[in-house]
Amino acid sequence: MNYAIAQTACRACGGQLGASFCELGSMAVSNSYLAPDADLDAEARFPLHAVVCDACRLVQLDTIVDARGIFSDYAYFSSASASWLAHARHFCDAMTERLALDHDSLVIEVASNDGYLLRNFVAAGIPCLGIEPAANVAEVARAHGVPTEVAFLGRDSAAALVRQLGRHANLVIANNVLAHVPDVNDFIAGLAQLAGAHGMVSIEAPQLLTLVDGVQFDTIYHEHYAYWSLLAMERALARHGLYVVDLERLPTHGGSMRVLACATPMVLPSDRVRSLRAEEAARGLDNDAFYAGFDQRVKAVLEGFRSWLSASHAAGKRIAAYGAAAKGNTFLNAAGTGAGDILAVADRSPGKIGRLLPGSHIPVLTPEAMLALAPDCILILPWNIADEIVTLLRTAGFHGELVTAVPELRYY
Ligand SMILES: [Zn+2]
Repeated sequence: MNYAIAQTACRACGGQLGASFCELGSMAVSNSYLAPDADLDAEARFPLHAVVCDACRLVQLDTIVDARGIFSDYAYFSSASASWLAHARHFCDAMTERLALDHDSLVIEVASNDGYLLRNFVAAGIPCLGIEPAANVAEVARAHGVPTEVAFLGRDSAAALVRQLGRHANLVIANNVLAHVPDVNDFIAGLAQLAGAHGMVSIEAPQLLTLVDGVQFDTIYHEHYAYWSLLAMERALARHGLYVVDLERLPTHGGSMRVLACATPMVLPSDRVRSLRAEEAARGLDNDAFYAGFDQRVKAVLEGFRSWLSASHAAGKRIAAYGAAAKGNTFLNAAGTGAGDILAVADRSPGKIGRLLPGSHIPVLTPEAMLALAPDCILILPWNIADEIVTLLRTAGFHGELVTAVPELRYY
């Protein structure tokens, strides 16, 4: 059972939570898919409101849903997307070269999921270890030959692991997990512990600047507690003795940054670090004005979508959607879209097929079953991988309209 906890202080620095950034109202939790016979009136809804810390400028939710409720139903397998697997492989190759990793090295990945990333190190003969909180997911990783511990990373669990292994890691990877971490300081302290004095920490996270520029409000959901700028991240890491030495801007999730940090402040930050710092300063990320006005831009996106939906219905078009993920749930619920508006949403995840989307209660079908309904138009919800989905649907013989709706209506 989920329950909400109101945040009274910044989860990173303990400072005062100030300006409102994005107010999405009361919503069902994005990954709580419903059985078709569930009591829909009893579905729990919680506030979804992102605010800005006055002190360190971390954007974060002012109410969070208890993490145990979220993780117990966590059924996300990273291996589902081909482009994501390629992204992971490139990262492993680049880090192996940069840090000269070999059979004497150790790579640890936190929230290692089904081992889709670490498998690349296993194949290269580089010792590695995954840390994954979901036991069923860790089991899949082990079945693929990736050593995996079932644990939540924190200061104490990291210290125990270093004692057990008798060494620190050359590379500690925390990709796309920081947003999901309730206790940011305990988690970063754990990363610092694992890396020790000489290891490198790699943190990949969606970037706040691109979230704002792309009006990516649908990346905000209850399972994402915080939304990181380089400014807020450097402040959070420094409290645990980690200094950012390099970064890369990535197209993943609509715009992410991969930050490399270590415990040696003598290493000069790269030009890429200095350039993003300068850009964030020039855009005013340390001022309230930068965060104000985002809500108005979100409203404009939603109004554009609702007009399109009404016009499509008036023209007698039958509409389906593709991609039953958190992003789509925030979008559909913010737009007030329901099962009367969209016939079905297609997804390949076995845990979601046959269930209803939280909040909107649109049924989830296999892509084949959705296409068999012969819709005139398919709304692609994960706009960040739209090209991949367009190819997939066209290859499957769909000739109707394909659209994405963020940051504006786009036809493919
Ligand atoms: Zn703060």
